[in-house]
Amino acid sequence: MDETKYEFKFNKIVGSKVQFEIDDLDAFKRDLRKGHLKFNASPADHNMISNAQRKKIYALFRDISEYTGYEEQDVKYRLKMKFSYNIKQDFSLSNCTKELATKFIRFVIEFCFRYDIPFDSKAMENTIDAERRVFLCLVHKQCTVCGSRQGLQINHEDTVGMGNNRNHIDHRNHRLEMLCFKHHSEFHNIGAKAFADKYHFHGIKLSDKSILSLRLMSQKQMDEFDEEYKRQKQQGMSKND
Ligand SMILES: [Zn+2]
Repeated sequence: MDETKYEFKFNKIVGSKVQFEIDDLDAFKRDLRKGHLKFNASPADHNMISNAQRKKIYALFRDISEYTGYEEQDVKYRLKMKFSYNIKQDFSLSNCTKELATKFIRFVIEFCFRYDIPFDSKAMENTIDAERRVFLCLVHKQCTVCGSRQGLQINHEDTVGMGNNRNHIDHRNHRLEMLCFKHHSEFHNIGAKAFADKYHFHGIKLSDKSILSLRLMSQKQMDEFDEEYKRQKQQGMSKND
């Protein structure tokens, strides 16, 4: 087991005493209870992996281990190997740059999405931007708010009016997001703006390729819409003649 390491953030100097904020107070208290009263401290390198990042990574390993039944050490070993292979360089969690650590966290999160492994969504904070998250939830079919896989519906953020035929929608023209039944209802109850303010994401427009591979539309449907647009445009032009 690695020895506990803390990160202290300078707060203020009061007389001859210095105050720091600590990133893991519980672990620190545990060490105090064990009788530790002296600690080594040295200035941290801003560019190196932070304790908070390391914690996110280990939390993800734990989630994956719990779900798959693989030992945490195995999970760690395999994912590090895979990642090293991808980036074509050695990778160590004890000694890597902050930037590389962020890349690794993203890699592990995308791994979880790909294999439908539930994980604590806190890992995504400051790591996966909202747009990417909306995309991953669309592709891997889970609610963008709560991660649920039940009763999923694709929401059009730019609301499709009541009169519109839901089966005749050109998905290419809409910002889309995957929501469970509960959050889809909430979206319509509180409205698009309040919903985006509350959950901090917007739907995204997907590429034709993604729309096809998600089977939201067929190539034939796309072609039909394009024909329709062409006709409308021609009609519009002849009116102006
Ligand atoms: Zn939900």
